[in-house]
Amino acid sequence: MSKHRYKVHPVLLGEAQVGCILDVFWGMNPDTGKKLPNARIVKVPIFAFLIEGGPDPILVDAGMRSAERAVEIHRLGPHWMPETMSLESQLARIGVKPSEITTCILTHLHYDHAGGCEKLPNARIVVQRSELAAAAAPIGPRHLEIGSRELFYDRKDVAALVDLLWDRVELIEGDVTLFPGIECIHYPNSHTPGSQCVYVDTADGVVGLVGDMVRKVDLNVRRGIPPGIYYDLEQMQRAMRDIALRGDIIYPTHDPMVGEKNKRKRLAALKPGKPWP
Ligand SMILES: [Zn+2]
Repeated sequence: MSKHRYKVHPVLLGEAQVGCILDVFWGMNPDTGKKLPNARIVKVPIFAFLIEGGPDPILVDAGMRSAERAVEIHRLGPHWMPETMSLESQLARIGVKPSEITTCILTHLHYDHAGGCEKLPNARIVVQRSELAAAAAPIGPRHLEIGSRELFYDRKDVAALVDLLWDRVELIEGDVTLFPGIECIHYPNSHTPGSQCVYVDTADGVVGLVGDMVRKVDLNVRRGIPPGIYYDLEQMQRAMRDIALRGDIIYPTHDPMVGEKNKRKRLAALKPGKPWP
């Protein structure tokens, strides 16, 4: 076991109202029960994560560009990004300034993960090359009821990465150990073509910052029902098993249990359990 011990802080960069049909594929979600019509819509957090313990603080994901754009472009429910959930004020709670962050790892480029990169003046931005290609030229029909033609990517985020921020963009391909005790693992054609998870060695074990690879630890990892958005179902199933093998604690972007203050409850809800054979 590595002796590198980092600390992971969830930072809340917004909230969104979405259908919980997204949690599991084929709508196999007990929460969508017909008896409870309101249960179909849930309010979810949009987390990013700050890693402390290296020479500089590291940010994993960067939240959304604007709440209005999220609704307008992707035709989703209301989104919220009040001042208290801005990157600056969330980082200030931990005593970190955006300018101190020298590495930002993006799990993928969906609008609620890649929208805040321009707020980091000194960070190199680490993303899988295949993800940037997919975000620039998303595949699919021109009109989708949810997600639109952009498939949850925001062209302004892509434009910033390939132009304004390009000198600081570090494209990686496959699995990379970015720092001792911090690994990026690529899961091709899973939640997106180039999604990656970041595994961080902490005092509580290896924390998996999994982006949207997992919506709910219990449903997707323990019970092995993949989330609702995936490119290749078999790849997604393999990824769920790999995540359970690698991570001692799983932090999804949108699982409210990530924000649970009671540590015992939080860890109990976010442990992956034994992977299936
Ligand atoms: Zn996503």
